[in-house]
Amino acid sequence: MSHKAGFVNIIGKPNVGKSTLMNALLGEKLSIITKKAQTTRHRIKGILNDDDFQIIFSDTPGIIKPAYKLQESMMSFVESAFTDADIFLFITEPGDKTYEESLLHKLTVAKKPVIVVINKIDLTTQDALEVAVSYWENKIIHAAIIPISALHKANIEMLLKTILTLLPESPPYFSKDQLTDKSLRFFVSEIIREKILCQFRKEIPYSVEVIIDRFKEELDPVEIDAIIYVMRDTQKGILLGHKGDAIKKLGIAARKDIETYIGKHIYLNLTVKVIKNWREDDQQLKRFGYQQ
Ligand code: GDP
Ligand code: MG
Repeated sequence: MSHKAGFVNIIGKPNVGKSTLMNALLGEKLSIITKKAQTTRHRIKGILNDDDFQIIFSDTPGIIKPAYKLQESMMSFVESAFTDADIFLFITEPGDKTYEESLLHKLTVAKKPVIVVINKIDLTTQDALEVAVSYWENKIIHAAIIPISALHKANIEMLLKTILTLLPESPPYFSKDQLTDKSLRFFVSEIIREKILCQFRKEIPYSVEVIIDRFKEELDPVEIDAIIYVMRDTQKGILLGHKGDAIKKLGIAARKDIETYIGKHIYLNLTVKVIKNWREDDQQLKRFGYQQ
């Protein structure tokens, strides 16, 4: 029997719905999603397995001009996604025409099939959608153009069918029971970061990193110690809140989602530490997994 397998890399600007789409395609929540730009910092592989195919999706950070070293590392993850794709899912929204020519050029020189995914059709009119379709037809020649709503899971089946017609014949790259390349610890730290992004504003979301220090899976409840790193003492104060109210609220919200995710009761211990300006520090970025 023939078998198809390949790498499908999801790229686009911040907030177009890359992570929402990957989760919809997988039918699982792997990538965290918020209304804030730069929610996704890493390249996260999500693997869709069936008897006769294996699709390895890559969710990537949104493409931006880096302003500090952490963002430079985030953009290097995006660069890697340009080099190893079998198929590109290039995500846009109706009305969006401000893509840089350099990005479109990279897609062209990669010489791999491109699917232009026009997301968030639930927010637009038929007329605006038609304008967007003909715009992209002229902009990226030979691309399939698929309008979807990742949030409402509209037209996802159609997108999947299109991907399968373009997927090369190949044996699987990963074991068929593997869903991702990232560890359970990684996803637990991402859930905590998601809760921080939802609960705090301004510079906090862009200044935190969450590291799982201890994970005792054999205990009941499972014991998890997480350290939240911030860049300044004032940020530590904000995270803790008056009499520790803020961190308590954060802990409750994170614990609920982690328990759902791992299907066990947990005891979650959160500690806040300051590492001055870690976002610009090569050594810290390496330790946090942003650099090789
Ligand atoms: P990313 O930065 O490209 O990964 O975008 P996210 O997946 O994190 O989504 C950014 C925001 O757009 C979130 O608030 C999503 O709920 C929202 N979103 C994603 N897809 C859709 C969609 O199809 N329709 C609507 N209305 N909102 C969407
Ligand atoms: Mg994302």
